[in-house]
Amino acid sequence: MIREDSLIWALASGTGGAIAVLRVSGENTKSCLQQIFRTTRGRPLKNFRPRHMHYGQVQDSAGKILDEVCLAYFPNGQSYTGESMAEIYCHGSGAVIRSIGKLLESLGVRPALPGEFTRRAFLNGRMGLSQAEAIRELIEADTELEASLAIHRLKGALKGKVQSLRAELIDTAAHLEATLDYPEEDIEFMDDSALLKRLGGLKNQIQEMIEAYGRQYLIRQGIKTVIVGKPNAGKSSLLNALLKEDRAIVTEIAGTTRDSIEEELILKGVRFRFMDTAGIREAQDKAEALGIARSLKAEEEADLLIYLVDATTVLEEKPGRKPDLLVLNKIDLGVHESWQNLIETKEARTISALTHEGLSDLLDSLVGMARDRIGDVSPDTVGISSERQAHCLEMAMESLHAFENSLNSGIPMDIALVDLYEARDHLGQITGEIASEDIIDRIFEKFCIGK
Ligand code: GDP
Repeated sequence: MIREDSLIWALASGTGGAIAVLRVSGENTKSCLQQIFRTTRGRPLKNFRPRHMHYGQVQDSAGKILDEVCLAYFPNGQSYTGESMAEIYCHGSGAVIRSIGKLLESLGVRPALPGEFTRRAFLNGRMGLSQAEAIRELIEADTELEASLAIHRLKGALKGKVQSLRAELIDTAAHLEATLDYPEEDIEFMDDSALLKRLGGLKNQIQEMIEAYGRQYLIRQGIKTVIVGKPNAGKSSLLNALLKEDRAIVTEIAGTTRDSIEEELILKGVRFRFMDTAGIREAQDKAEALGIARSLKAEEEADLLIYLVDATTVLEEKPGRKPDLLVLNKIDLGVHESWQNLIETKEARTISALTHEGLSDLLDSLVGMARDRIGDVSPDTVGISSERQAHCLEMAMESLHAFENSLNSGIPMDIALVDLYEARDHLGQITGEIASEDIIDRIFEKFCIGK
């Protein structure tokens, strides 16, 4: 059992930089600081000015100086976690961080669990669950769009939206309850059509949020872009050229195999997952059938399918799924006349993966098409951001459907209302107004340590 009032510490920054940030949180933060912090003249401080930077040194119990540091103290109620807290800005070496960490632990401060600071902030009412999730999103954001969506959620946009949906449900239920409890009173009765209209409005709003999540999924997971074409068309060369052209981040995607190479890259703020099927169809003997099957599967699953051909060869249509982009490569070697029509009608793009001619136009087209796929997701969109939240919305939707069905089939209102209350509770789980311990555990264990 974790005691919520225990003192915890963690490294909140990375290591290896000039400065590292250590966080301490818990009721006895101040007395802990009094023990380890000395002014530049070596004097202990009895009090720390709230939220001001103090300059001095960290000393161990034998008076040995471990580092020169800056320190900020945040009293109860004025901190990230909502409890007394401090941030120590020390030098960024592993040795310094370890020695201060050891000193803290010798005073009974234990290392924090992943997300424990944010968990405390949630438990102390500093933020809702959806905001806590937005913090993790912000830390993990790679593109500006992801970051701005996260900030929007962090500012409470999602919480506000869900709370207003929930309030409307509660209001509807209360009204229906009142007509049940005091049938003789003169309470304006909501007739079935008004009730169904209200429910319809609620369902539409929930549905919109679920759909917006689907589009945001593309933002986070990346647009799956598959390059197909005959051996030697230049698929690998194109991928390499794109990587050089505008590379922000490239990560190895776990589980990639020798014969399907997946690269993640961010082009003009949009995340792509490029899949180069080079080598799949060329596979010899037994592996061949498997390779072709994989290639077809990749084609099917692609959000964007690029068909790459060698421009010097005679026109040949791609069998199977129609590509989103037809790209003629190797134009530095000339273009076979059979392609001319398609080039004139702009149905075919022309590039040279070797000289990079036409590459930046191709890149613009790719980004444009990807943005079309993503649709209108402006940072002002009030969207949800996790599978958990999507699940809550779907469950709320199901309960509303069930309620509607009960109404239509004449089930007594007091029984039907159970579903309306369930819908309310599913919404409450998004913001954490209703959340079980294991839901909370699951959310925070995905956080990094120090947050
Ligand atoms: P893949 O089998 O489709 O992946 O094709 P590769 O990328 O391995 O390229 C096959 C050959 O074509 C290699 O020798 C490349 O150097 C060459 N190649 C690729 N793109 C171009 C290009 O734009 N111009 C020229 N001249 N050669 C190219």
